[in-house]
Parts: sequence; C-alpha cells; structure tokens
Amino acid sequence: MAKPKYNGYKIAPDTLKEVAKLGYTPKINRILRFAEFLKRKYNISTKLEIELRKDVGAFNGGLYIDNKIIIYENIKLPTLLHELRHWIQFNTRISKELHTYELREIDARMWSSSILCKVYPEEFKKENYKFY
Ligand SMILES: [Zn+2]
Repeated sequence: MAKPKYNGYKIAPDTLKEVAKLGYTPKINRILRFAEFLKRKYNISTKLEIELRKDVGAFNGGLYIDNKIIIYENIKLPTLLHELRHWIQFNTRISKELHTYELREIDARMWSSSILCKVYPEEFKKENYKFY
C-alpha cells in the first residue's frame, strides 16, 4: 500500500518560521502571538478565545468550539496546530469545501502534518507518520 502524503499541503515560509518560534510544547504567550499571526495572515475578523486548563480532562489534548480552543498546559504542537486549523476553517472561504466533520478532520490533520514534517522532521518520524 502506498504511503499517504502527509506533506500534502504547501505551507507558506512565513508560517513555518512562526511555528518554529513556538517550540514543540508551546507556552500560552507564544500561542497567543501565533494566533495573532494567523488572524492577520488569513484575514480573520473573529477573535480567537483560548481557554487554558490545568487538568487533562476528557479531550484528547485540545478542543475547538465556536471560535474558542480549549487546551491544556502541556499541549503539544501537533494538537495545537490541529485545533488552530479548525478556527481557520470556520473563518475563511475553505469552510465551503469542508462541509462535513470528516472533511474538516482530514484537512486539520493534513495541515498539521504538513507543517510538522517540515519544522520538526525528527519528532514527526518518531511518531511514525501518523496523522494529527
Ligand atoms: Zn479536529
């Protein structure tokens, strides 16, 4: 079976540069700065609310709901990028193409993976090329 193309999306150099500044386990001040970058880049008019929780809870590291992401203190970059992509999806024209939950999930994983394999190739390999 052919290996899926996890680097399927072409990611702009400025985005890769900003992600590199985040680190693999990003802290909240850097996450907020990165969200501002994405807001400008994608011309998003809604403000992203970020709720930081200390407990691990029921979610798999993060959750997106109505322009808000709920994340945990020890969130890892793959999960953070995935949740931020959902914010982009609902606030840009790509929402028209991504009209089902499944399509949105695939897109979020592809976007996250496409960034990770460029910025953190070693971590990405360690995770055995699985989708985020
Ligand atoms: Zn998702």
